[in-house]
Amino acid sequence: RTDSALYAAKAAGRGRTVLSERRRSRLVDDLARSLAAGDLRVELQPIIGLPSREVVAVEALARWDHPRLGPVPPLEFVPAAEDGGVIDQLGTEVLRLACADAHVLQRAWGRPVHVGVNVSGRELVGLGYADRVLRALEAARWPASQFVLEVTESVVEASGPAALRALAALRAGGVRIAIDDFGTGYSSLSRLDELPADFLKLDRQFLTSLTTSTRRTGMVRALLGLCAELDMLVVAEGVETPEQARLLEELGCPAAQGYHYGRPMPVAALAATSWRLDDVVPPVASGG
Ligand code: C2E
Ligand code: MG
Ligand code: MG
Ligand code: MG
Repeated sequence: RTDSALYAAKAAGRGRTVLSERRRSRLVDDLARSLAAGDLRVELQPIIGLPSREVVAVEALARWDHPRLGPVPPLEFVPAAEDGGVIDQLGTEVLRLACADAHVLQRAWGRPVHVGVNVSGRELVGLGYADRVLRALEAARWPASQFVLEVTESVVEASGPAALRALAALRAGGVRIAIDDFGTGYSSLSRLDELPADFLKLDRQFLTSLTTSTRRTGMVRALLGLCAELDMLVVAEGVETPEQARLLEELGCPAAQGYHYGRPMPVAALAATSWRLDDVVPPVASGG
């Protein structure tokens, strides 16, 4: 696992943490250089519409192959980019790469796709963020209406009015907003209706016991109803098994994403197939 260093650092005691600090400051230095050199990549993970089982969108995930350390996971280098003051450059580069790839996919598949990128807290509340995104979309000749910005609910919670203003400005420019990792932060359900969001990405923790616990199934069913009421489309994250996929289809979940359907991959690998999903993942047997 490429992210083992991070989790080891988190799990272990002090000695490891010191090592991790040293690694972190090295990453901060090297990331700036890699960004300037154009060494950052993105991989795209398909998002599947249900019940059509067509790929309706892709999420762009940043990838960094460090010249000596090898692949560094985004959960490690995104905070490093924030610390090093290069999060804006990182975000702009990811957006540029994501839109270029989305053009390739749209040409290959001959139908419209949506493309999503993630935004960190420090980036979202930075000065002029919304304008910068809208200008970058124009430069990439990518329609804002087919662009999704994924922001975690904890960022919205922590950043307060500044985050809400930025999201509102982006939405006014036509950009779609997705609440990422929903259910993991200190989300206050009482304010779900105030979130300026088109999509709600249900964190994969909701799926862990989905197929074995009827209480869990009931909770997801109720959340789907709640989001439908609020005109938010739910995307279930982290679908790994056919059983989870079948149950989500039965519950009427509108979209899903996860290793069961496809891993994050370079654009060429995605563009190479039609992504008629039945050719890739066998359809789930009907319940009857
Ligand atoms: P996220 O936005 O929630 O992205 C989903 C993460 O779950 C990705 O990890 C993806 O590879 C992984 N994943 C997808 N399907 C499955 C599954 O079925 N099972 C499991 N166990 N995992 C699955 P990744 O690529 O390591 O990214 C981790 C996080 O780093 C992302 O979580 C996002 O918050 C952040 N991130 C990634 N790229 C960027 C970026 O360009 N900018 C910013 N600010 N953050 C980014
Ligand atoms: Mg995301
Ligand atoms: Mg997510
Ligand atoms: Mg997640």
